[in-house]
Amino acid sequence: MALIFSISGVRGLVGSELTPQVAADVGCAFATVLGGGRVVLAADTRASGPMLCGAVAGGLMAAGCTVIDLGVVTTPGAALMVSLLEADGGVVVTGSHNPPAYNGIKLLSSNGRALPAELSQRVRQVWLRRAFTLAEADGVGRLERHSGTHERHVEAVLKIVDAAAIAARRLRVVLDSVNGAGCLATAMLLERLGCHVIQINGCPDGRFARPPEPVPENIAQLVGAVRQHDADVGFAQDPDGDRLAIVDQTGRCIGEEYTLALAARQVLSHRRGAVAANLSTSRLIDDVASAVDCTVHRTPVGEAHVVDAIVKHGCLIGGEGNGGVIDPRVVLVRDSLVAIALICQLLAETHKTISALVADLPAYAMIKQKFACSPERAARVLSAVRRAFASQRLNEADGLRIDLPDAWLHIRPSNTEPIMRLIAEAPSQHAAQELIERVARIAESVP
Ligand code: MG
Repeated sequence: MALIFSISGVRGLVGSELTPQVAADVGCAFATVLGGGRVVLAADTRASGPMLCGAVAGGLMAAGCTVIDLGVVTTPGAALMVSLLEADGGVVVTGSHNPPAYNGIKLLSSNGRALPAELSQRVRQVWLRRAFTLAEADGVGRLERHSGTHERHVEAVLKIVDAAAIAARRLRVVLDSVNGAGCLATAMLLERLGCHVIQINGCPDGRFARPPEPVPENIAQLVGAVRQHDADVGFAQDPDGDRLAIVDQTGRCIGEEYTLALAARQVLSHRRGAVAANLSTSRLIDDVASAVDCTVHRTPVGEAHVVDAIVKHGCLIGGEGNGGVIDPRVVLVRDSLVAIALICQLLAETHKTISALVADLPAYAMIKQKFACSPERAARVLSAVRRAFASQRLNEADGLRIDLPDAWLHIRPSNTEPIMRLIAEAPSQHAAQELIERVARIAESVP
């Protein structure tokens, strides 16, 4: 994989692709586009974090920005501090759910959200052309440090739930933070919610005890701990604390798609309003929203697009099927602490178990596939699939999403690699597989 500069920032293999030179250049480019000001800086727990932070900070200061270093905090914690400190932007050094050999640099705008596409494009252009505006000695930025992000973040999350009602339920919770940036703030939140917390992989030292993506195949240790401790729920985060997966009280991984659906159910049980989700997100969110006559706005894949829709339509909640929940009352980025608080509130208010809450929703099977496909061929494949499904409900905002009466399929070219992604969801594994195979056959027939 080569260094990738996408809408969400830069990501690459540390040492060969993501070097201190690259990080300094990204810092210079971002500060050049901002034209100076104050920028919040944070990192997850990866060993390469301090090295890359130092380089990014150097670049930011060289182009005239004052850097406010928050240290190791979650991505949503950093986003919140951009707003609270009235900074002009934010930089988070995180490889997110990628293996430890990788790292990345995420950029945040002044309202603490993923950079809108247009701004991200400008930073990329300045970076590619190396058209930096560097300050002279008296204009170089300063470096400040700020502690207390975890406390401020927990306070902000507590405001959206009834902590006393949750505490009355005395939930037993197992938390797996993968030794990432979520360890301290999340444990603090659960304790403030009166939960009995059993923490595994709770030392923020960056030694990932499991592959960091919180998908069922990676969280067997959490499953075991939920069973061993007879817990009500297990929560698994990714290293920067923006994604959340849930394990039910029997030790079953319910799948990341349920995180947004259950969080949305909680929010919509109190207030009626719109929801935003990307086109690859399960229909569970439509089931939750339509049960209370609310609308779901579908967006292209990418956190920035979901945030655009939340802002444009005044959505009460939004997110992605990968366990990313965005509640605009707290921050305009995916926040696993928000998701945890809302799920605990749902457990407290409904007096149901996680498995009972899951059983309230229809069961779907989702299958994801990808195949090599050049951008030129991708356009031809999309038109062939469009022709074959012309009588169905189609959405072409990002590739092609086809909604059939009881199933859907999303086919889209990757923004970063020459591959095509296919996602199908249907009431059974067999039906989802059939849909995938039907589209794969159409794709194969395209030269
Ligand atoms: Mg992440």
